[in-house]
Amino acid sequence: MPKVLDGATIAAEIKQDVAEEVKALAARGVKPGLAVVQVGHVPASEIYVRNKVQTSKELGFLSEHITPAETVTTEEMLALIATLNAREDIDGILVQLPLPKQVDAKVLLDAIAPEKDVDGFHPVNAGRLQAGRQALAPCTPAGVIEILKRSGIPISGANAVVVGRSDIVGKPAAMLLLHENATVTICHSKTRDLGAVTRQADILVAAIGRPGFITPDMVKPGATIIDVGINRIDTREEFDKFFKGNDKREAAFAKRGSVLVGDVHPAAFEVSGAYTPVPGGVGLLTIAMLMANTVRAAKIRRGM
Ligand code: NDP
Repeated sequence: MPKVLDGATIAAEIKQDVAEEVKALAARGVKPGLAVVQVGHVPASEIYVRNKVQTSKELGFLSEHITPAETVTTEEMLALIATLNAREDIDGILVQLPLPKQVDAKVLLDAIAPEKDVDGFHPVNAGRLQAGRQALAPCTPAGVIEILKRSGIPISGANAVVVGRSDIVGKPAAMLLLHENATVTICHSKTRDLGAVTRQADILVAAIGRPGFITPDMVKPGATIIDVGINRIDTREEFDKFFKGNDKREAAFAKRGSVLVGDVHPAAFEVSGAYTPVPGGVGLLTIAMLMANTVRAAKIRRGM
């Protein structure tokens, strides 16, 4: 039976570690500060933002939830970022995406001081990560590494294949795996004979954005699968493709009219040695890693 790598347990461990660091910092008169900026009300962002703000409060951070109006301009947002950049009590600035069309997201994200960029999206942090310097790494890929390490999955010397090359998941995940001494291959939509490559993987990271894309024949028996994908499916046809005969999922589908599936077909997990489920895997790590990044930012900024 493959082992389930439970995101909730690992996220709780990370938050516990963060809470201890916060206590140690408090003894030195430091309170990490996180500002979460949420423009307007995108329903899909609502729950994420609430969780981020709530978790940071629970962990003893100074937590600010800033909510500019839907009509805010890029200039007004830049002024807000400049204020937050200058504030001594704020260590991390997070701008929740997506932003309304009139706001230039790239200009805005680039305006965040790199040392306060707890999402790890700033080009300076991407470059520092690449160069092997101290960097704030993006939360989701950093969570992938935490899952592997805390589950005792050996990374050094392993063949790691990352499917997906986005700037926020695929590329940084590959770079972090490389820093952990994996032999890394990055695949994308132009990769030829993808299955032949993924079958070489001891560690297979799927960050594609296509429901159930990785099928059992693409997985080396016993491999560790990290499924980053989060896809919502809401038709009976799609549901049956992935979960036919699964009573638990059937009940969830009947109740909500939709369920989540990762980028890996559930049947492919059966071939693996260990895997992260969806939901309940990588997704749960992202907020924990955001908290860890904020504490890290607080320490780095003060030379601690
Ligand atoms: P992007 O759409 O930015 O990137 C998708 C990548 O997959 C691209 O590099 C693309 O290749 C590649 N790809 C697409 N189709 C194929 C194919 N047929 N064969 C091989 N490669 C393919 O997505 P993200 O990286 O932002 O997200 C990936 C997934 O992770 C999504 O499901 C997203 O919801 C989820 N996610 C989960 C998070 C979490 O907290 N757990 C956080 C962020 C994302 P190419 O570059 O050639 O187009």
